[in-house]
Amino acid sequence: MLFKEIPVHENTRQRLLSLADNDRIPHALLIEGPSGTGKFALARAFAQYIHCTGRKPGDKDSCGVCPSCIQHQSMSHIDTHYVFPVVKLDKMTNAPVSDDFLTEWKEYLDGRRFMDFSVWTETFDKKNAQPITYANESGALLRKLSFAAHGSKYKVVLWWLPEKMNEEAANKILKMLEEPWEDTLFIMVSDNPKELLPTIYSRVQRISTGRVADSVIAGILETERGIGSEDAMSIAHNADGSVTAALRSIGSRSDENEFFNMFVTLMRQAYQRKIADLKEWSAALATLGREKEIKFYEYSVRLIRENFIYNFKLPQLNYLNSTESAFSVRFARFINERNVEKLIEVFDKARIDIAGNANGKIVNLDVAIKVILLLKQ
Ligand SMILES: [Zn+2]
Repeated sequence: MLFKEIPVHENTRQRLLSLADNDRIPHALLIEGPSGTGKFALARAFAQYIHCTGRKPGDKDSCGVCPSCIQHQSMSHIDTHYVFPVVKLDKMTNAPVSDDFLTEWKEYLDGRRFMDFSVWTETFDKKNAQPITYANESGALLRKLSFAAHGSKYKVVLWWLPEKMNEEAANKILKMLEEPWEDTLFIMVSDNPKELLPTIYSRVQRISTGRVADSVIAGILETERGIGSEDAMSIAHNADGSVTAALRSIGSRSDENEFFNMFVTLMRQAYQRKIADLKEWSAALATLGREKEIKFYEYSVRLIRENFIYNFKLPQLNYLNSTESAFSVRFARFINERNVEKLIEVFDKARIDIAGNANGKIVNLDVAIKVILLLKQ
């Protein structure tokens, strides 16, 4: 991973470069900040930079072609070790360590710059799996780190989500952090540093990163996914500073189109008071299944809110994609200060009821009837 492949956290990159260039790399470093923002990619780029033998002073990035870089790019660098949360599968007698899942890990990391814990969890193919780092990880690490570095100045441990280690593991790791080896660097990356044992947290040098700016996320979506600038900005805004969330929402765009169509149908038929059609609409929504119904109601709340804002004619405050925006030209005037709160309440309550196992058809039809009344206000 090269720094130039990661268009986020410019300040953090500068700090990492300066630590390496001035030979002041701490033995235990923690990069902390919100999830899905490219922190682990930066850690990988940093490890490669530390090991790169082809870079010249002032290059500010790895060379990408020396043997070390090539090994890093294929995740087979001999002095780089990975620790990440894993799941004990039913067939396992002992608690697993990271190396038991190295193949899956490399597959997961291949081409990935923005981590997604839920996608990693899915690789274990086990219901309700909660990946963690078990105590025997420390023994495995000790064995690996007891060898001298193979030609590099430093052995590097790239550790994803140390907050996922259990307490026994944390106590063992603490000893390693308290008496660091000269030639070993721990580079940890945490989404929730508050969950780390305070004793560990106080042992590491920390670099904090923030959320990624909407404009940067939109830029990534435009240049790498070919999404139009209006849609890119709308997706970025709803992603709350996480590139992973933005990429995920592109993945669920076909869902969003479906929800948009359901929403438009509901509003048209409610406006025309077509009760029989609305009954069909309720049944059709129910067939999508509970999870999608809940997402539909979440989506609808957002659309109602955005349409209310649309009336103020302040495009910089509006985050509608191009299809939604075209619909709002004529629809927005129906959402006003008299009904906006009540409408949101109706959709929000439906979401809660559906989540609480209420009968979808009944809840949906109830929503439709309330919408008929509220649209006339
Ligand atoms: Zn290199």
